[in-house]
Amino acid sequence: MRCDCDYHTHPQGHAVRPYTVDLLQPWIDRCRERGIKSIAFTDHDRYREGVDFDVIDRLREINSDIEILAGIELDNDPVTGKSGLEWVETRWDRLDFVLGSVHYLADASRMFDGADQSGQLHSLGFERAYEEYRRQLDALIQRGHTDCLSHLDLIKIHGLVPGAYHPAQFFEPILQQIAAAGLAMEINTAGWRKPVGEQYPAEPILRAAIALKIPITISSDAHSYAQVGEDYTRLETLLEGVGLEQPVRFWRHQRR
Ligand SMILES: [Zn+2]
Ligand SMILES: [Zn+2]
Repeated sequence: MRCDCDYHTHPQGHAVRPYTVDLLQPWIDRCRERGIKSIAFTDHDRYREGVDFDVIDRLREINSDIEILAGIELDNDPVTGKSGLEWVETRWDRLDFVLGSVHYLADASRMFDGADQSGQLHSLGFERAYEEYRRQLDALIQRGHTDCLSHLDLIKIHGLVPGAYHPAQFFEPILQQIAAAGLAMEINTAGWRKPVGEQYPAEPILRAAIALKIPITISSDAHSYAQVGEDYTRLETLLEGVGLEQPVRFWRHQRR
């Protein structure tokens, strides 16, 4: 089984729910049920208060058969982004894995990927929204302190695309940046559960990334333990189709 890791999960969901063994253990049990050997907890950096490295250590002690990575999803939140980055910087050595995400377009106070936020794309115009999204990705990569890019083409979430949109061509400059910076990129199955009905990123982007030898991680973006390894059978088929032998694993920010 090549899909035996899940490197994007949200045990706290969308709130601060401090880490305890009780909160996290069901996620590990689910890994066992679904044949996941390595999991990264990557709550949003705005809920970082709830992250407790000592609890993760305790969880590792009682679940030595599953590799557990301490991670975070660091985004471009205009309010918490700066302090989130500082938090990551000062805890870099305790973190194994940092995802980098763009959830905000310029001057926006809400994440564009919210179910009721497609209006952000309508009011900007799809072309401008996509360009703005790409600019934010560029800034995020330049900012540093990430290991892997999340859901690279998240802007498509609502199923809205500019008239002449060629995914691989549009994201080529970003893929070049990712490769030059030595970062990884994830395949995220959450897109199959959204209006767009397609994994992140689209297959042409994935193929272009593989051609550039960008290391690929796999993930469910689970917001409940029930979603760990969600749609991995379908993911296996996708990986076979694009000829990806083995997704990469991380430990202490190092690929292996
Ligand atoms: Zn995200
Ligand atoms: Zn996420």
